Formats: sequence, structure tokens, C-alpha cells
Amino acid sequence: MNTSDSVNQYFDFAANHLDLEEGLRDILKRPWRELQIAIPVRMDDDSVKVFNGYRIQHNATRGPYKGGVRYHPDADQYEVRALASLMTWKTSLVNIPFGGAKGGVQCDPNLLSINELNRITRRYILGIEHLIGVNRDIPAPDLGTNSQTMAWVMDAYGQVNGYTPGIVTGKPVELGGSVGRDSATGRGVMNIVEALIEERNWTPRNMEIVVQGFGNVGSWVARIAYDMGFKIIAVSDVTGGIYSKSGLNIPEIIEYIKKNKSIKEYSNSEYLSNQDVLELDCDLLIPSAINNVINKSNASNIKADIILEAANHPITPDADQILNDKGLTILPDILCNAGGVIVSYFEWTQNLYQRHWPEETVFTELSQVMKSAYRDVKTLVDSNKITFRQAAFVIGVERVVNATKLRGYV
Ligand code: NAD
Repeated sequence: MNTSDSVNQYFDFAANHLDLEEGLRDILKRPWRELQIAIPVRMDDDSVKVFNGYRIQHNATRGPYKGGVRYHPDADQYEVRALASLMTWKTSLVNIPFGGAKGGVQCDPNLLSINELNRITRRYILGIEHLIGVNRDIPAPDLGTNSQTMAWVMDAYGQVNGYTPGIVTGKPVELGGSVGRDSATGRGVMNIVEALIEERNWTPRNMEIVVQGFGNVGSWVARIAYDMGFKIIAVSDVTGGIYSKSGLNIPEIIEYIKKNKSIKEYSNSEYLSNQDVLELDCDLLIPSAINNVINKSNASNIKADIILEAANHPITPDADQILNDKGLTILPDILCNAGGVIVSYFEWTQNLYQRHWPEETVFTELSQVMKSAYRDVKTLVDSNKITFRQAAFVIGVERVVNATKLRGYV
């Protein structure tokens, strides 16, 4: 089963719960538009390589398409399609006026120079330029891309269409980006943790957290959790993980990575594989790297009490079932990692009227939107005795259904 079929299993649960007719299910499941392009690039060694690029627009019933651009070797049509549909349900769940889309370039950014990445990005944007627009489709960063990539996106689009800061979010602040966008996804995850603290009377210093992935999302999750007083016992990146039962010094690790690029050789800790990191005994496990890392082969070994999905689709549906049967609580991706697209919405709004919000406004509004979505989901979980994922999908799908009917599509 590909990732797109996996996500659609969760959609099917919501569709059954809402008793949707067949035709409506078909409208909502299928992407409205899929574009695959060839991206020819002159490499630094003077050879020419052609990369596959995608922009998949899943649904724009509630507003312009919105979704990140991923640079990863596995970013094929199925993965990008799945991620595009997750964006539709996510923007709906947190009730911001966007639809869902995703982009991808099948490449390994770790093996490319900064100049090659610049050329790939410009060619990619030229190839999808006719499909995107401030009120049509607004890209953003994702796995393997960052604010520098978004600066190139804005510039490439601007070369054709003139100055258009609202064409992309996650830009550097100097080019019209929002303060707080960099930390937004990780901060949003921790807003959900704050809601859990209030609800369950937790004392952070007595609780152990494990974070897989130490890029944009994972490093901010770890940094904010550390500042809140949690004990972070393990973190990892693509090279493996580091563990300390007494808790890791996260600010020191962030400084270490700035100089050394990867976590691997960091001292004052024990080295673990990414697999071992996921299977550690802890209170909160926060996968913040790639898809499908918890699957049928390792789900029964997971010892965390609660999983917060900071990454998109880190758990396969069969593993989800195993974990639910074990009694774990899983806070799903479309809720947990929505902070990024929420602050992207704030950035787009600021670009439209050319004003800048102060950091305090961004953080306060982000927290309000995240906690309000959490309360909506929790209410449905309690009243319908369903999982957090099921409840999140029911809310996300239902809002899109209502908008579909109001627009008169069916
Ligand atoms: P990133 O490229 O900044 O960081 C990815 C991290 O994962 C790096 O530390 C990398 O070393 C690690 N990693 C890569 N492959 C791995 C593997 N096989 N095993 C373990 N670790 C691995 O990416 P990011 O922006 O932090 O995104 C991480 C996840 O969060 C993705 O699933 C992405 O879709 C999701 N997400 C990101 C945002 C955002 O605003 N950036 C928003 C919502 C969701």
C-alpha cells in the first residue's frame, strides 16, 4: 500500500462516520490537479541531471491551495499526493482559509551544493509557475527545504510576475517572512503539550521525552520542551541518535550541530540507532523526521505512553492499530504539526496588507488556534469514544464537505 492509500484509510473512517455518499467521497479523495515536471539542471561538475518535480493540488474548496515543498529521494507522486491530502484535512481542522497541496523534488539535498539547490529551485518554480499564485496556491518549506529555499522561490516567481511576497511563506524575515515562522511547527507541537499539561496536571521535570529528527521541527520541539523543564532523554538525526538517562543539554547540542552538521559524534551521551531511539521507554515520543518510521515491524516494541506526530504520517495505519490496541494515545499529525501552516497563514495575511506582526502576537494567536483545535478534537474523542486521529479527520473532512455543498459542487 502506498502512502496515499494509507492516508485515505483515515479519510474512509471519517466518511463512514459522516455517512457521506459515494460521489462526494470521490470528489474529496482525489487530487484536483497533479503536475509532474522534469527539472534539467547543470551540475557543478558540468554534467546535466534531470530531476522529477511535482506539485499536487488536492482540494481548494475552503481557500487557495497551501502546502510545503519537500526535497527528498522518496518524494514521488504517491508520497506528495498523500501529503497534499493531509494538508486539506489539516487546514480544515485548524480552521484557516486554505485548501491542501504539496510539492516535491526527488533529490537528496545533502548531496547537492548550495548553487545546485538554487538552480533546481528556480527551474522547479518556472515549471509550476502557471499553477501557483497568491490567491491560487502558496508553497512553503518542508523536509529538506528551508527559508533560503523559499527566498529563491519568491525571487524566481517574481522574475516572471513582479514583486509578490505572498506567493510563498516561510521566507526569511528580511524578505517579508513572519517572525516566529521558523519555530512555528515545533512551537505548535508544544502548544498541544501545554494543553495536555493543563488537562492532566503534569509536572514537566518528572517527564521524559524522546525526539526523532533534529531539523527545523525536531530541534524546535526539543529546544522549547527543554525550556519548559522537560527531560529530553534522546534525540536523533539521519545519522543516528544520542541518549542520556539524566537528560540531554539541548542548547549545547544545537550549538554542536551548527559546527558539526550531524549529531553522531556528540559526547556526553550514548549512541543509539534511530530504531532504538523510537523504542525507548519514555512518557512522550515525538517523531519529527520522515514518514512510516513506526510500522508493523516495530509498533509492538514502542514503549512510550503518548506519541505526538510532529512529522507527517510517521505511523502506518497497521501500526496505528497495534498502538491503539496497546492503549497508547496518539495525537495525529494534522493536529500536532499544524503550527507551521498556521503561522504561514499569518505570514500570508501580513504580506497581503504589508504590515508586520510582533512576535508576541504571532505566538499568542498560534497558541489560541492550536489549543482551540485540540479542544474540538478532545470533545469529539470523549463524546464519540473514538481516537484522536479519527476525531481530527472527522472534523477536518466535515468542514470541507460543508463548504463543498455550499459551493454547489454536488
Ligand atoms: P528538516 O529537513 O529540517 O529535518 C529533518 C530531520 O530529520 C533532520 O534532522 C534529518 O537528519 C532527519 N532525518 C531525515 N531522514 C531521517 C531518517 N531516515 N531517520 C531519522 N531521521 C531522519 O525537515 P523538517 O522541516 O523539520 O520536517 C520534519 C517533518 O515535519 C516532516 O515530516 C515534515 O513533513 C513535517 N512538517 C514540517 C513542517 C515545517 O514547517 N517545516 C510543517 C509541518 C510538518
